[in-house]
Amino acid sequence: MVRSHIAEVRGSAAALVRLVAVTKNFGPEAWNWASDAGCDAVGENYAQEALAKSLAAEVTKQLPLHFIGHLQSNKLGQLYGKVHTWQTIDRESVIRGLAKLYGMHGGTEPTVLVQVNIANESQKSGCRAQDVEKLVELARSSHLHVGGLMVMGPTSGDPTATRQAFREARKMSDELGLLECSAGMSHDYRIALEEGATIIRVGSAIFGERPQ
Ligand SMILES: *Cc1c(COP(=O)(O)O)cnc(C)c1O
Repeated sequence: MVRSHIAEVRGSAAALVRLVAVTKNFGPEAWNWASDAGCDAVGENYAQEALAKSLAAEVTKQLPLHFIGHLQSNKLGQLYGKVHTWQTIDRESVIRGLAKLYGMHGGTEPTVLVQVNIANESQKSGCRAQDVEKLVELARSSHLHVGGLMVMGPTSGDPTATRQAFREARKMSDELGLLECSAGMSHDYRIALEEGATIIRVGSAIFGERPQ
């Protein structure tokens, strides 16, 4: 269903959109479901859970793992080698931590997205809009591959404010010469698609209500 919405909104450019299946709180078998459902990647929020699933015997089909939760510097090491795309790079210390880790292990340039607190809400992660450019520069000079930006819609869920936030994020990505814009979850991914997101992160609209 999500796929048909992508095709509906984006037409011939639908192939440019990646669907990340958000599997947090679901068991390891959800990674298999995501693969069977034709998703492009799985998204996890918690280091411990991501690690457990990446090692679980139940997982027979591995999709690229996108880390989409708040990043704690002391968890980066555990996730090294498991994460394909780091979507929540929002401060200098995380960039330096990742750069050090990949440098130390001689790993290839990881793909990162800089998370922006686009609606400037105090309870949200993400850097301030005015700090994006600086972080993108730092990540680039630290040998991280910056694919683009990542944002969450405003907490209010108001469709007009959501559209505004996603539009702004797309514009910022474009201005920085970045291809990717990760925006949109189950309740607002259609707006994100209409506003040019290239990555949508969808959980409950694929798997049903998330276990607590
Ligand atoms: C949980 C989560 C999602 C997916 O949420 P759904 O409403 O289940 O689609 C997407 N992005 C982030 C950052 C999340 O934490």
